[in-house]
Amino acid sequence: MLDKQQGSRLANLWDEAKAAAMSESERLLYRSNLLGSDKRITNYGGGNTSAKVMEKDPLGGGTVEVLWVKGSGGDVGTIKMDGFSTLYMDKLQALKGLYRGLEHEDEMVGYLPHCTFNLNPRAASIDTPLHAYVPRTHVDHMHPDAIIAIAASKNSRELTHQIFGDDIGWLPWKRPGYELGLWLKKFCTENPKARGVVLESHGLFTWAGTAKECYETTIEIINKAIAWFEANNVAPAFGGAVQPVLPADERRAVAQKLMPVIRGLIGAEESKVGHFDDSAAVLDFVTSKNLAPLAALGTSCPDHFLRTKIRPLVIDFDPATPDIDATLAGLADAIAAYRADYAAYYERCKHDNSPAIRDPNAIVYLVPGVGMITFAKDKATARISAEFYVNAINVMRGASGVSTYVGLPEQEAFDIEYWLLEEAKLQRMPKPKSLAGRIALVTGGAGGIGKATAHRLMAEGACVVLADIDAEALANAQSELAARYGKDFVRSVTMNVTDEALVEKSFADTLVDFGGLDILVSNAGLASSAPIEETTLSLWNKNIDILATGYFLVSREAFRIFRRQKAGGNVVFVASKNGLAASPGAAAYCTAKAAEIHLARCLALEGASEQIRVNVVNPDAVLRGSKIWTGEWKEQRAATYKTDDLEAHYRERSMLKRSVFPEDIAEAIYFLASDMSAKSTGNIINVDAGNAQSFTR
Ligand SMILES: [Zn+2]
Repeated sequence: MLDKQQGSRLANLWDEAKAAAMSESERLLYRSNLLGSDKRITNYGGGNTSAKVMEKDPLGGGTVEVLWVKGSGGDVGTIKMDGFSTLYMDKLQALKGLYRGLEHEDEMVGYLPHCTFNLNPRAASIDTPLHAYVPRTHVDHMHPDAIIAIAASKNSRELTHQIFGDDIGWLPWKRPGYELGLWLKKFCTENPKARGVVLESHGLFTWAGTAKECYETTIEIINKAIAWFEANNVAPAFGGAVQPVLPADERRAVAQKLMPVIRGLIGAEESKVGHFDDSAAVLDFVTSKNLAPLAALGTSCPDHFLRTKIRPLVIDFDPATPDIDATLAGLADAIAAYRADYAAYYERCKHDNSPAIRDPNAIVYLVPGVGMITFAKDKATARISAEFYVNAINVMRGASGVSTYVGLPEQEAFDIEYWLLEEAKLQRMPKPKSLAGRIALVTGGAGGIGKATAHRLMAEGACVVLADIDAEALANAQSELAARYGKDFVRSVTMNVTDEALVEKSFADTLVDFGGLDILVSNAGLASSAPIEETTLSLWNKNIDILATGYFLVSREAFRIFRRQKAGGNVVFVASKNGLAASPGAAAYCTAKAAEIHLARCLALEGASEQIRVNVVNPDAVLRGSKIWTGEWKEQRAATYKTDDLEAHYRERSMLKRSVFPEDIAEAIYFLASDMSAKSTGNIINVDAGNAQSFTR
């Protein structure tokens, strides 16, 4: 895979016809988005771009030089105009007079807001001085895999000179901050002809007089590195393959077994979501001779290890003679050992004022012959962590192929990981939502109540798998939810709840997609109405199949996962008022709903010892958005009650004289699925606007 990636050069995507009509700041945005569109140029959220632009001063009316630079926390690929911070250049230059030296460099961050131009609310990033003090109009700072491979080689200075001559300089490792900004200025003054500089263990700086020239310089320099690796990195990757790659379905089967168990073992403090990656670049690494020693060295670029922790955990699994049970049996000890190792690293490196130790669990799990599993606080973070480790693999492949790969020194890594400025950033993050890191599967997920439930759970941070028999409605529901909450957070699966094999496969897919399961909302339904003497056996069976057997099948699968995951669990049945109250002309339906409710009570009893809760919501007459309340059933009910306006009929029949909507049911489901009801199991909540017949007793 990497061969292919490095074999193809980066294309020059600059369209001058487009760019010519833009303002200078618009050209900066254009250049940034072009650069960020290719992961070989920079990783997600990594790197930054800037331009020094003459602007009309809102205070004096004169013209002043303003630094436009990517603000804190953005991504150059997706940044918009409001993602740049803007600062007066003369004020940034004046800060030099306030600098008290290296030990005090962090305090300089506090001065940056004082330099803000035009009341721009976008916070300036820690990298701002790096751009401000390079005495060139346009500056790119990127994290290209091919350049970091040079920067993370033992002889990176010599390699840089060998490849780029005097064109590109080299600076030793220095944590990004005020001091590095001054280093860059000094470098430019002493090397006026240089077009950029490689930062050891970190990345690339390039600069030019125009936006176009700057973009083209960045592309040219990276292409030169790619070409050089192609010609010189001829050794087999990572010492060559020594393990077989399992076939794709077996890789998924192993991931599916490992993920919930790992998730249970690392989720005590905070629920986590998983991601599985078995791309070619990963498989090359996890089958190689040098997997263990290279993994132990840790990652190099600061971005890489902030996202992936200082090093991954290599799982003890032999793809030549697979014994997954032995691997599972050893997981608890392996994870405990990783945590102890991390705690020892913290103790070795901490300073008097270091923030308290953070979650000591690994983020990246490498499985020989199978792939890579990552776990983080949400799905997007887990996926991005995996992308970062792929960047790190590319770097190790390049560096170890032409030299000796070196990770960042442990103390430097620690000083970035536990940097007080980094800690302040974490403290500013909003409190996690109530279902952050939780994973839910909702059957009947494309219908009225199912979709409203998915909305409710996702609004609280949960990942949701929508299961439904109606593929078209399912696709629509998934895109609606993805547009609202992000596509990382929702998956869908076409599932008939009465098909045992399909139910098992759907839950297995959920494990590979998200790493586990916390919440099952069993909601798939149907309704029928017929006097007993006209109820056919097939109508009777259909009700029992979907409402009783279907609920049994999905619950059984959820219970199997909950027990492997050992982190409790939560099942909510959407039953019906009719499970408690008899209703005329609907014996098959009412009986099946009663079976459902009793099943929930039995399961509540069985699950309690392992903190698995099972509760029921009983709706009544939720017509809006329902696929049940269309066609025949609606007509049958209307005929039974001799009315044209069923919604009005049900409203008037209720004690509170109110209609019941899908969102009302979703609210009760959310309550039962969340920790707000942590001490409730075996319960029924009626959401029916009041109906004395269905009072529980
Ligand atoms: Zn950087």
